[in-house]
Order: sequence, then C-alpha cells, then structure tokens
Amino acid sequence: MAYCRKCGEVIDDEAVICPKCGVQQKEYKKASDDDGSILWLLLGLLIPIAGLILWIMWKDDKPKSARMAGIGFLVNIILWIVGVAAMFSLVGLYMH
Ligand SMILES: [Zn+2]
Repeated sequence: MAYCRKCGEVIDDEAVICPKCGVQQKEYKKASDDDGSILWLLLGLLIPIAGLILWIMWKDDKPKSARMAGIGFLVNIILWIVGVAAMFSLVGLYMH
C-alpha cells in the first residue's frame, strides 16, 4: 500500500498518478528503478569493476539492484580465485 505524496490519499502500489489529485508519484518511479534485475548480476559477472561501482553508487538509493550488482561482482571474484587456484594446482601437477 502506498500514499499519495501530495494529498496523502491511499493509492495502489503500482499507481503512477494519484486518482484523487492527479499528482505524479515520483517516489514510485524511483522505487520502480530499483528492480533488482538479474541483468545487474550478469553485468557484475561480466564486468566486475562496473558491478563494484554500481554496488557502491546504488547501495543507498537502489538496495535491490545494488545487491544484484554486488553479487555479480563477488561471484566473479570467487570464480576468478577458484580459476587461478585451479590453474596453479594444474601447473603444480605438471611440475612434479
Ligand atoms: Zn493525491
């Protein structure tokens, strides 16, 4: 449940315009940007630095999307560490 930011009328969560006073609900629009889309996770996975920057930039304004970007970044880092560890252990196998 949401409230009109001008007249305080109870409006639908998905209402873009208050049916009573006709004022556009900017708070809703801002919240709708924070979709927590899986795309942010993929972005963080493909471009970890972008994921890290978005995570820091959005952690207050868009916590859901920021978390997804952050998860993408962390998964990338974990995969990278695992990959390097696997590579070193393979090199170790060949060396001995
Ligand atoms: Zn209103």
